[in-house]
Amino acid sequence: MQMILSVNMGPEEYAAKHEEIEFPKIDICPMCKARKRLHRHGSFQRNALPEKNKVLLVRIHRFFCTVCKKTVSLVPSFLVPHFQYTAHFLVGSILGKVETYRELLRFHQKRFLKNLNLIQAFFRDMGFRWSLPEAGKERAIKLAEEIENLGVGSFSLLYHKQHHRSFMAV
Ligand SMILES: [Zn+2]
Repeated sequence: MQMILSVNMGPEEYAAKHEEIEFPKIDICPMCKARKRLHRHGSFQRNALPEKNKVLLVRIHRFFCTVCKKTVSLVPSFLVPHFQYTAHFLVGSILGKVETYRELLRFHQKRFLKNLNLIQAFFRDMGFRWSLPEAGKERAIKLAEEIENLGVGSFSLLYHKQHHRSFMAV
């Protein structure tokens, strides 16, 4: 399982400082709901791509539940579970603000469109009451702009908490 870890930094800073990050104590297992503190369980490296041609390696820390014997990975909030590109890049590419590959953009747009109704529901729950364009692509742009206004990392974190999935999930 993956959980989003709130970090107020980008991938470069996280890669440099991750040793200093204080990890939250997880007192309730997010998988089996047992009230038993999870143990630290090592870490692994994965790619974080903040730009089209820039690859950074960041460390993902894991916790282990002694009750259900499952592990949970803490994905820093600048990343989206199962995506190598940063959340900022993903939203930026939807808005046409970052350089990307045509096929990759299509794939990212498709995933974003797939989640559009839930993303819209998220903003409605937060009290946003604007009227949105009917057409999927225009609606996607409007919602991507609102994600940027809220802060991509904060959005990703709150969204994951509410829906238990990422805003780019299958
Ligand atoms: Zn458990």
